[in-house]
Amino acid sequence: MILPNFVQSPLLLGAPGVYHAFCGCDPVPDRGGRTRLREAFSIPPDSVGTTRQTHSAHVLEMADADAGDPDAGSREGDALWTVRRGRGAGVRTADCVPVLIAHRELPMAAAVHAGWRGLAGGIIPATVAALSACFGSGVVDGLIAAVGPCARGCCYEVGDEVADALSPLPGGGTALRKGEAPGKWMADLLPAALAQLRAAGIAGARCDAMGVCTICDPRFHSYRRERSQTLRQLSFVYLLP
Ligand SMILES: [Zn+2]
Repeated sequence: MILPNFVQSPLLLGAPGVYHAFCGCDPVPDRGGRTRLREAFSIPPDSVGTTRQTHSAHVLEMADADAGDPDAGSREGDALWTVRRGRGAGVRTADCVPVLIAHRELPMAAAVHAGWRGLAGGIIPATVAALSACFGSGVVDGLIAAVGPCARGCCYEVGDEVADALSPLPGGGTALRKGEAPGKWMADLLPAALAQLRAAGIAGARCDAMGVCTICDPRFHSYRRERSQTLRQLSFVYLLP
């Protein structure tokens, strides 16, 4: 299925039990993800969980309460994972990085909200650590990840505060270049997220980067471009019932 405002991860779709792995937004105004899940994907609207995102490094195992409405989570956290079939883990983003994780052999789905604050706070290694704590440290060898549309270096001008947070991280050097104005930097959140995934043990070849910049690609919502008017795209991995 190809929808104009969605990108999908062929890598994650090849994992066992994964039925959908999408990043996208609804081209029709005032119809949030809840309606769209049924219309576009034939997925029950109350089967995809999300969190109330706070740019933290807090990881949650999905509970029934997280799946009530994909447009608004009920618990605070910035990563959600599940092994329950017929469930999906979702994340809402505008310019932050949506990271979707599955496993080569086990039915497992995780969705991570990683903006510059989340990357600096370690949400990606925290998610891998949570999965390792539950399934054993060997689980990391089977993890695969897709990185969705996010703010990239063509457009994402930031100040020293953001540059200082990103520069010490894995991949910090490739994620930043000097901007034109003094004290300004151009930040690329995609290589920053990929480097953290690799540093957490998910090898680079197993990362499927959907390299769209949300700020300059009008198919996607962007907080930077649309300011307070913006909606969010929903990214999710759904496990077959
Ligand atoms: Zn751009």
